[in-house]
Amino acid sequence: MFGGDVAGEIEKLYAAVPQIRNIFYVMGKIGEGTFSSVYLAVARLKSGEDRKFALKHLIPTSHPTRVAAELQCLTLAGGEENVMGVTYCFRKNDHVVIVMPYLEHDCFVDILHSLSFQEVKEYIYNLFNALKRIHHFGIVHRDVKPSNFLYSRRLKQYALVDFGLAQGTPDTQIELLKILQTKKQGSCSKSNLHTISGNIPVPRDVVLPSSTKQSVKRHWSHSQIKPGNNGKEGLLGGSTQRSVFGERNFNVHSTVIHEVNAEKNIKQFKITDATSRKLAARKPVSAKNTSGGVARKAASTCPASLTCECYARDQVCSICLARTRQVAPRAGTPGFRAPEVLTKCPNQSTAIDMWSAGIIFLSLLSGRYHFFNAGDDMNALAQIMTIRGSRETAQAAKQFGKTVLCSKDLPAKDLRTLCEGLRQVCIAPTSGTESDVQKQRAALQMKMIENQDGWFLEEACATPPANTSESFSYMSSADRMDSGQSTMNGWDKVPDEAYHLLDRLLDMNPATRLTAAEALSHPLFKYDL
Ligand code: ADP
Ligand code: MG
Ligand code: ZN
Repeated sequence: MFGGDVAGEIEKLYAAVPQIRNIFYVMGKIGEGTFSSVYLAVARLKSGEDRKFALKHLIPTSHPTRVAAELQCLTLAGGEENVMGVTYCFRKNDHVVIVMPYLEHDCFVDILHSLSFQEVKEYIYNLFNALKRIHHFGIVHRDVKPSNFLYSRRLKQYALVDFGLAQGTPDTQIELLKILQTKKQGSCSKSNLHTISGNIPVPRDVVLPSSTKQSVKRHWSHSQIKPGNNGKEGLLGGSTQRSVFGERNFNVHSTVIHEVNAEKNIKQFKITDATSRKLAARKPVSAKNTSGGVARKAASTCPASLTCECYARDQVCSICLARTRQVAPRAGTPGFRAPEVLTKCPNQSTAIDMWSAGIIFLSLLSGRYHFFNAGDDMNALAQIMTIRGSRETAQAAKQFGKTVLCSKDLPAKDLRTLCEGLRQVCIAPTSGTESDVQKQRAALQMKMIENQDGWFLEEACATPPANTSESFSYMSSADRMDSGQSTMNGWDKVPDEAYHLLDRLLDMNPATRLTAAEALSHPLFKYDL
């Protein structure tokens, strides 16, 4: 079932950490990220029962403190309230393998369109449970997204995984996250972090729980396992992925049209940091003018204030060159990053995880994944603005010390209209014709382009995808007329509370955004959960 490369990888894993072979039979690979490979393995328990485990093999270049912090999060906060626990950890030289209970899980895009509204409600409620738990421990996950929140629809089980990017709040209970924080403040450079020496405070020769100590007979066949869902989550995955934004939504027609209409549809915005602007204004330095891509990029971060001369020019002015780049954590995936992360706000809190949960909820309600599909922070912010409004974005940014300028006013979208339009749910005959829905979809397809004047947000006059290509997931109008209660799965009766909750999660201002505890007691969950 597996190609030679997976078999080879498993052999390499056995070779790197030979102890694994004594306990586990590694059946296949279930995930691969930038920092790890995750395998499905089986161990025979004393009782004779075979139990499945997930083995996360971290890349050997991971920083020891980072690795230990990930483990400490799992050990202290995990094992309860939908947070993945840890069974054991192997270490040999640079190789660390975290052993966790295995949770079979569905691939988010595979089930997105068949989930009932009730299931969506349960999913998001269980995610809040996990977030409440980790936030209570002072852990900011920083990478909340579907592939890090395992969901078994069949078992109705959930598990938040992957603390590889986690950070601590100032009062975190996770000691190693405190250490990571201190090191960061001491030096901002990544390379410095990697030179810190130290032992991994990971149990080296800890005895396995007796139940898993039994040696395993190696007679499993590879044909028992299904290939992992790895890859489906990536931006270039299967055809079922339709994000609202992003290059992949553009067809040949839209490219042609937007060249013609470019002038008309251009919108421009910029982000600046209030504090750095003040500093820069005080000590200007002379600098050579540069040109080309680098200069253009730099120019795009300049403020349009009177203190700067390079706004909308193909040059970086001396004021801008004098600016110290703000260093702020920005881990995670662009489409899930909160506005304060995208604008490099230095004080980030657990609220960033709540934003990401809001983005997941937005996907669930609209049936679109990835909802935001930007490859970088500027585009990600632009896409957020098209939904939440440019004025609203600027206003919120002001609250956390950033200035966001947008040359054209983008109104905030009504969340119900947006989600129902994308899902193509028509409740009453008057609520929208096919062409309304198409118009709305076309209006949503925006594109960021970069030219010598900076970054522009552009509306692409895209032709909506032909019905044929999407018919497997969207009901045709005929279907909609005929469909009874059962096929609607509750989507015809989404209460206002759902959109109110979404609105409060996608609060641009982290200070007023709902906390996990608040979200759990939201009126949406008052009945039948
Ligand atoms: P990475 O840091 O490389 O993203 P993760 O911890 O997120 O690693 O794991 C990657 C993938 O492996 C997950 O998306 C999931 O599909 C699978 N996985 C991780 N832990 C488990 C587990 N305990 N049970 C089942 N699958 C898991
Ligand atoms: Mg992950
Ligand atoms: Zn400038």
